[in-house]
Amino acid sequence: MDVSKLPNHHPTAWDTHFEAMSLPDMFGRSAKASPQAPLLHFLGRTYRYSELYADAQTFSRALHARGIGEGDRVGLFLPNVPSYIAAYYGAMMAGAVVVNFSPLYTVDELAQQVADSGTRLLVTVDVPELYATATKVLRGSALETLVVSSLAKMLPTLKGIALRLFARSKVARVDYGRDILRWNDLLDEGARLEGGVAAQDPHALALLQYTGGTTGTPKGAMLTHANLSINAQQTAGLNPFGDPAGEVLMGALPFFHVFANTTLLNHAVLTGASIAMVPRFETKQVLETIEKYGATGFPGVPTMFQALVDHPDLAKTDLSTLKVCISGGAPLPGPLREKFEAATGVRLVEGYGLTESSGVVSANPYEGMRKPGTIGQVVMGTEVLLLDKEDPTVIAPDGEPGELAIHGPQVMQGYWNRPEAAKDVFVEHHGKSWLRTGDVATLDEDGFLEIVDRIKDMIAVGGFKVFPSQVEDVLLEHEAVKEALVIGRPDGYRGEVPVAYVTLENGGEATGPQLREWLNARVGKHERVAEVVIRDELPKTMIGKLDRKALRAEVLN
Ligand code: AMP
Repeated sequence: MDVSKLPNHHPTAWDTHFEAMSLPDMFGRSAKASPQAPLLHFLGRTYRYSELYADAQTFSRALHARGIGEGDRVGLFLPNVPSYIAAYYGAMMAGAVVVNFSPLYTVDELAQQVADSGTRLLVTVDVPELYATATKVLRGSALETLVVSSLAKMLPTLKGIALRLFARSKVARVDYGRDILRWNDLLDEGARLEGGVAAQDPHALALLQYTGGTTGTPKGAMLTHANLSINAQQTAGLNPFGDPAGEVLMGALPFFHVFANTTLLNHAVLTGASIAMVPRFETKQVLETIEKYGATGFPGVPTMFQALVDHPDLAKTDLSTLKVCISGGAPLPGPLREKFEAATGVRLVEGYGLTESSGVVSANPYEGMRKPGTIGQVVMGTEVLLLDKEDPTVIAPDGEPGELAIHGPQVMQGYWNRPEAAKDVFVEHHGKSWLRTGDVATLDEDGFLEIVDRIKDMIAVGGFKVFPSQVEDVLLEHEAVKEALVIGRPDGYRGEVPVAYVTLENGGEATGPQLREWLNARVGKHERVAEVVIRDELPKTMIGKLDRKALRAEVLN
């Protein structure tokens, strides 16, 4: 790529030397270089760099005036809306640490992570489901303030369409008060204050991104400004097409996810590109958006590309601007890639990454030689090692598959308040610290990695991760359930779906469908199981522990 065109590129050799920037600094440089350039297209409105930068600054001043600054945690419980961008960078400009929460979280999930992270202020929107969840958490936790942005204010002329896309119901009736504030009032407060953006230490914590890691207990991966800004540079380095500022990225991934944080938001802001964002993935809307704004690149999860291929409007849509689509988050099935490329004429490349690596570890080249079925080669500045599957202190013999471990500037600092958990995930080799991924890979002579197995107890449902132990814990709350095991079953559409196997208490009465209905009402959307199977016995290990691995082998082989 022509790095000289990047407003933020390192003046000498960006290919090998990354610049550890703070994210506000990165945003400031692009906003200064091209204030009038579009940063965001959203439901018919375009937001320029200068406008969103000013909103972020204003928000940061208001936070500062309210005593929120250095190291405080500011949570975002938002779908894809313009205020996400101003809140994300604005919180960081104030020196705060952003905590991203999935807008699909239940009250319990949100409450647990708000408490664990010590979030003081939470930004949400007046979509009824989100507002109801956020207020329940506000009333039952140490959270101090809820800031509610208004959908109608963001979309004055497109109310009908916006509401259809966000929720079928109306905007929530919001009870503003001392601890529930309007986003716009807060911006007005900030606008009356003086002050620029204080310089942030690039090595300070910027983001807490919750993940199950390898065990399933939600933990906050600690990502610094440097981790994130360098991963954006590594992602930008994959682009061979020139003029990165002219790129229009299709923003269909949910912004709260680290994959979107890096490949859409920080990547665009670094390079001066724009994002054509939709509130949530709706196939027809995505096709219209690609055509309307001339999207040039599209990072997504496999289920998104499957939905595009299956849609009757695909053939009618002008996709001529699209240069590449990048699939990550879950394995990309070969037949899907072939079908997508045949139908669209656009290359669909597979990449790989995880929360603990700020999002991106590897990708297949956008042009030239690639290896379908692999997750490509590591991005610049990243090293990999394959470890013995049983013993991570031993390196796997050459040519053998092993647990993929990575070393690079995008790797997290550890887990928030959980030094013990971090000890399990980092291992020393050759005098360096390596992040264990829980994924088993092979590496070929050209440096292409292929994921062949998974050690961690995780089920990949679309791009979302489900941890069996969390679903099992909910099942065990049912009075009739004695033991429970949850495993992933292959699914043509979502990759995998969770399925539960249980034994019943003596005298316990329940049917599989009853338990399924009971469970699915209590867990998040992706945790919902396809089936609950009642058994007389479940497999156990030698010492009598329930053996998920044995069940998986028995059921799936
Ligand atoms: P998360 O931290 O939620 O982004 O999940 C990261 C995990 O998703 C990785 O450790 C892998 O298990 C899985 N994953 C991501 N991309 C791929 C891919 N291309 N192929 C297979 N698994 C993937």
